[in-house]
Parts: sequence; C-alpha cells; structure tokens
Amino acid sequence: MEWWSLVIVGAGPAGLTSGIYGARSGLDTLILEEAMPGGLTAKSPWIENYPGFPEGIAGVDLIERMLKQCERFGVEVKSFEGVKRLLVDGEVKRVETEKGVYSAKAVIIASGCRHRTLGVPGEERLRGMGVSYCAICDGPLFKGKRVLVVGGGNTAATSAVYLSKIASEVLLVHRREELRAERIYLDEIKRRGIKVLWNTEVREIKGDEKVEGVKLYNNKTGKVAEEEVDGVFIAVGETPNSEFARDAGVEVDREGYIITDNLQRTNMPGVYAAGDVTSCPVKQVGTAVGQAIVAALEAYGYVERPYYYRG
Ligand code: NAP
Repeated sequence: MEWWSLVIVGAGPAGLTSGIYGARSGLDTLILEEAMPGGLTAKSPWIENYPGFPEGIAGVDLIERMLKQCERFGVEVKSFEGVKRLLVDGEVKRVETEKGVYSAKAVIIASGCRHRTLGVPGEERLRGMGVSYCAICDGPLFKGKRVLVVGGGNTAATSAVYLSKIASEVLLVHRREELRAERIYLDEIKRRGIKVLWNTEVREIKGDEKVEGVKLYNNKTGKVAEEEVDGVFIAVGETPNSEFARDAGVEVDREGYIITDNLQRTNMPGVYAAGDVTSCPVKQVGTAVGQAIVAALEAYGYVERPYYYRG
C-alpha cells in the first residue's frame, strides 16, 4: 500500500490542474489515469476559447503543457492505471487499481466522460474499420474520402470542420432541425460548404470488412435513404466515468454525473469532484480548470486544516 495525501482520479484538464494546485500547496499528490493523460481534450482538434491562446491550441498541446507543469511541482502521474474500487467512507480513503492500492487523506474525482454510442447495427462490428469517435485521431486516414459526422453539438461541429480540411466531402447528420453547437461553428460549417442533413437518423452502418455506407431515416418525411461513405464519425455526446464513485456511495444525478456543492465537495467528506464528470452543465476546459482549482484548494484545507480553514 502506498500512502499519499491527495489522490486524483483522471488526468484530463481537471485532474492535471488539481495536481498542479495540490502539489504546489505542499500535498504529496498522485494522479491515476486509466489511459494516456488528456482525456477527451487530447482528442480535441483545436481549442479556440481557452484564454491565453489567441490563435487557439491543439488539445494535445494544451495537455502537454499541463503535464509539464505537474512535473515541475512534483506530481506523480501513473498512466494506464484505472481505478477499480474506491473506499471513501472512513477518514483514510482507499483507492484500488489493477496494479496497486493507494491510501489518501483526500480524493479528487476528475475521471471525465467517455463517448456515447449510437447503438445501431454495424456500429460495433465496424468500429476501427471506418467507425470512429475521434476526428483528430482517425481523420487523417480519410484523406480524399467521403465521410459522415453524426450529432448536433460542439463535438460534431468541430469534427465536421476539422474533417472538411482532409476529406473530399463531409456530410453532417443531425436528428433535429437545428444544431446545438455554438454560432461560430455554424458559420464555419456554412463557409466550408459542409452539407447538413436535418431531421435525419443513422439507422445502420453498412459494410463487410470496412464502412461502405449508411442507411438514413428522415424522421420528418419517413423516407429511408442510403449514402455511400468511407467513414462515420459519431459525436452524440458523452457518458460520465463515475461508476466506481457511485459504487463507493458518492452521490450522482440521474445520468450518473457527480453532484457537488460550489466548493466541489461531494456528499462524502474529503472527496471532491471536478470537470466533465460533475453535474455542471457547462463542459469546457475553462470550467473544468476552475472547478479543479477549487477542489484542490478545498482538499488542501481538508487535509492540512490551516487556521483560516478550521473556523
Ligand atoms: P452534446 O452537446 O451533448 O451534443 C450531443 C449531440 O448528439 C446533440 O446534438 C444530440 O442531439 C445528439 N445525440 C445524442 N444522442 C443521439 C442519438 N442517439 N442519435 C443521434 N443524435 C444523438 O455533446 P458534445 O457535442 O460531445 O459536447 C459535450 C460537451 O462538451 C458540451 O457541453 C459541449 O459544449 C462541450 N464541447 C465544447 C467544445 C468547445 O467549446 N469548443 C467542443 C467540444 C465539446 P439533440 O441536440 O437532439 O439532443
């Protein structure tokens, strides 16, 4: 068993920021990450609205900078070590992974979200063979090809814009008549000549060894049509990675997002949550960073009990 003051679950922008603030406050700080650091942000092609980067910055580069800052303050980051079980109802918390057991005085959950799936025939079978959930990871494989993006949020919009610079043609398919993506992306979609198929649902992804097309259903006219495409990029939202926290008694909302107060405290003393895994409806790098700072400083107060915190 390793002993730490602060264990953070997840190395996206929230986890890394809590790491910087925790370690800089003097807490020996460990971050456990189930994959590579970065979470969904590392897959974001271009972030234009994070302050301090007037030209924008690639998600992966922003994460790289945060990681360097963690290193500078002595945070230990263990990648490919997902949390399997949490025991947080006592004063000493216990965090179990496949590789080890860690005890902590405080825990910050910053485990983010994973991609939601469509659940249509062909999606699972053709995953990695034309079906993708990450335009930045797989987009370059579709140079000069015809691709389809599914969804109406910011991820779908930014993915469509990014892919339009690589693919020969991008179709954006959305189940309603308007996108929920920000205005600036809508203008870019128009400017780039991306064709949007409104009121349209993907009913099947077709192909033997790789994606060859999709079956589409127009929910206004009831018409079924087929489109030949080489790639299908699915961007229909996210599901929180909170199961291990819920099982430990941490309160979550109906959709599984962790409920916190405005100091990022969960219902369990000494357990905080920050970033996309929380029920805060605004999912931005900036809000994740802000929540993570509050969580880390609260965790510091909880662990060290300085005079100004005790009162
Ligand atoms: P989102 O905002 O939840 O949008 C998901 C989209 O997928 C919605 O348009 C939804 O349709 C559609 N959808 C959901 N289930 C579907 C299904 N089964 N079939 C077809 N369509 C389905 O998710 P997101 O775009 O991944 O964004 C997640 C969060 O990250 C958001 O808060 C977003 O603002 C943030 N984000 C921000 C940026 C940025 O600011 N640059 C970039 C990326 C993500 P309906 O509209 O009909 O519900």
